[in-house]
Amino acid sequence: MRHIAIIGSGPAGYYTAEAAQKTFGDDVRIDVFDRLPVPYGLIRTGVAPDHQSIKAVSKRYEKVALSENVRFVGNVAIGEDVSIPELRGLYDAVILATGAPRDRPLGIPGDDLGNVFGSAAFVGWYNGHPQFAGLDPDLSGKTAVVIGMGNVALDVARILAKTRGELAGSDIVTHALHALDNSKLERIVLLGRRGPHQIMMTPKELGELGELARAAPHVAQTDLPPPEDDAILEPGLRKSVSHLRAFAATPEHIRAEKPVEVEFVFLSAPRALLGTGKVEAIEIEKTRLVHGQAEGTGAIERLRADLVVSCIGYRTSPIPDVPFDERAGRFANDDGRILTGLYCVGWARRGPSGTIGTNRPDGYAVVEHVAEDIEQGMLGRAVKQGGEGFDRLAAERHLRVVTFRDWKKIEEAEERAARDGAPREKFVDVEAMIRAGD
Ligand SMILES: Cc1cc2nc3c(=O)[nH]c(=O)nc-3n(C[C@H](O)[C@H](O)[C@H](O)COP(=O)(O)OP(=O)(O)OC[C@H]3O[C@@H](n4cnc5c(N)ncnc54)[C@H](O)[C@@H]3O)c2cc1C
Repeated sequence: MRHIAIIGSGPAGYYTAEAAQKTFGDDVRIDVFDRLPVPYGLIRTGVAPDHQSIKAVSKRYEKVALSENVRFVGNVAIGEDVSIPELRGLYDAVILATGAPRDRPLGIPGDDLGNVFGSAAFVGWYNGHPQFAGLDPDLSGKTAVVIGMGNVALDVARILAKTRGELAGSDIVTHALHALDNSKLERIVLLGRRGPHQIMMTPKELGELGELARAAPHVAQTDLPPPEDDAILEPGLRKSVSHLRAFAATPEHIRAEKPVEVEFVFLSAPRALLGTGKVEAIEIEKTRLVHGQAEGTGAIERLRADLVVSCIGYRTSPIPDVPFDERAGRFANDDGRILTGLYCVGWARRGPSGTIGTNRPDGYAVVEHVAEDIEQGMLGRAVKQGGEGFDRLAAERHLRVVTFRDWKKIEEAEERAARDGAPREKFVDVEAMIRAGD
């Protein structure tokens, strides 16, 4: 019998568990750890609350979680409650699927002002991540600036722009719904260093901006390259750019029917945030494109900004005893291998890129490495204690482990507490989650 510990219960964690089941069959026991008492990582705390059909992928992970040889071991933080050397002593393979939960810092003067947030924190706030539930952003100003031109920036802009009615079927947490209800925002700026051809927004998500009840997107016609230039773009990007063209073609009097404007500001690099205590403005340097990269022109402009959310990428959190690549912001690894018997997968391996599905081949590839390493005798004989050894350690340390059965009780309680029309009302507090699972 082989024992595998997977650290992290997001997409990468569960695709890896699925691959290990397929590869090793009845000869494996798999423990999937998570620092939270609830599973599924960013499916729960990242994916937008108004995109419920995407969150439904968790049903596939549930099937894996409910199999005989897989356990969910929640509320255990690896590197804090239990160390990596301890786990390596207990399991044949330890696979880190811990994601990239920290915001890449903006790194400009003023980024520590009030009402300036990274997207991990801001998205965590409206999605009920216990670490960020108390964020309390001030939405009483008129202008929000969302830095970045990817799908996360789009999510943030869309959620800020939606009405209570539009969020009715979502699982946005009630504290965020109340705050958005009282929002005074009239202008949401999406700020990008590069141009319309360099956006990282997928067509379906971008198209949604054109269908909002009280908000209209605005792109300046003069910012768009000549239409014939779109021919060289790959089809997905070309479709996204066609949405930008449609936004630009909407007459002003039609846009003016909606009280909130979502404005695209291209070729603008943030240089400083200004304000006393709280952010009031953002200083940008206009850029031009040189071989697809943004180069400063020296022209400085100032935009009002009462709220700033930067959506410029994520970094993995280091764990003691695991080699870390500071520059890349993820574990140092060679195609998923870190040290003998220690691997990484998903965002912890490759950084924050791709879709949920991209983590599936990742999981299968790392399990292939484990199988090769076993075959070549690198992981020793099958004598490790696995989950039984962990249970002894957890009892000695009085850890409050949350099982998958406990999670199902938490889930039922969340479903019972849902607002009318919403799928669930999430607990945003770890203690409350644990109590509901008892
Ligand atoms: C805001 C946002 C929206 C997104 N929307 C979409 C979308 O609509 N469609 C799409 O295809 N993709 C989307 N993605 C991308 C998708 O969420 C990721 O591809 C995917 O979640 C990465 O999976 P992962 O398992 O590597 O990491 P994660 O999902 O982050 O899972 C990591 C897990 O590890 C746990 N963990 C971390 N450290 C420890 C530790 N020390 N001990 C124990 N457990 C730990 C965490 O609690 C977490 O549960 C979105 C991402 C973000 C940020």
